[in-house]
Amino acid sequence: MSEDFVPAAGATFVDQVLGFTVASRNVRGRLVRLGPVLNEVLAAHDYPPALRHALAEALVLTALMGSLLKSPENQLTLQAQSQDGAADLLVCDYLEGKLRGYLRFDTAAVALLGSNPSVPALFGQGHLAVTFDMGESGQRYQGIVPLEGASLAGACETYFTQSEQIPTLIRVAVRSGPDGCTAGGMLCQHLPEGEEGRERLHVRMDDPDWDHIAALGGSIRHEELVDTGLSLEDLTWRLFHEESEVRVAHGAVLERGCRCSSEYYTSILARFPESERVHMRDESGVIAVDCAFCSRVFEIVL
Ligand SMILES: [Zn+2]
Repeated sequence: MSEDFVPAAGATFVDQVLGFTVASRNVRGRLVRLGPVLNEVLAAHDYPPALRHALAEALVLTALMGSLLKSPENQLTLQAQSQDGAADLLVCDYLEGKLRGYLRFDTAAVALLGSNPSVPALFGQGHLAVTFDMGESGQRYQGIVPLEGASLAGACETYFTQSEQIPTLIRVAVRSGPDGCTAGGMLCQHLPEGEEGRERLHVRMDDPDWDHIAALGGSIRHEELVDTGLSLEDLTWRLFHEESEVRVAHGAVLERGCRCSSEYYTSILARFPESERVHMRDESGVIAVDCAFCSRVFEIVL
């Protein structure tokens, strides 16, 4: 822990990720706080408050889990899907610090919900898929868990404990104000003996080291997660200062990033037979395609 860390007066700590490890307890974690990046993503759509909140939570989770990836080519995708929900699709992804995400929803059904509906109220019966694409190696790991419990964070905890057998604690907070949205999150995991691989020899959910760290991490308050004047280092220190050693490392600078392009949509449209493309063109011969993530419209002539 760098004790000489003195933030500049008036500094704000947003769009950052901080990694931390408590080696003596075999615990690793991430802290994330989103500000302008979150508002850029949200500004691409005219979402009602309930959906802004859900997408903000999902983007924090995406940043927390994406920042666990070791290689810059690796991508994390979070996808919630349902048949009968007010929202039937949520997709967020993370690649090299770049975040994006969107929701598909039924306007009339969402209007009946409060400003912060539970996961079942918003998605009905659905599932959450977490996919790690391992870049150059072409390997892909996907875990799917039911969308149950009160929050998306809870579903992600279930993903780690069920699909990866890694005891995991996740907390997320979202605050909306006149200046926009701020969101923050913490992820803490127990990896016995510094284990990093996916093959687990044995799993103990009741390890005393983990119980201890989970109690400390679980004491984090929503106000701390979204306090833009509180650095992530200071927050780590508040939580774990009684431990003999806590190491921290800054992760990628977070940005809003979309990978849509004319070339990409042209290549997709080229796969359709001409007999179908003919119905997609407007009277001037242009096929308009809008990116679900960022709402940019591309006018493709093909
Ligand atoms: Zn886009």
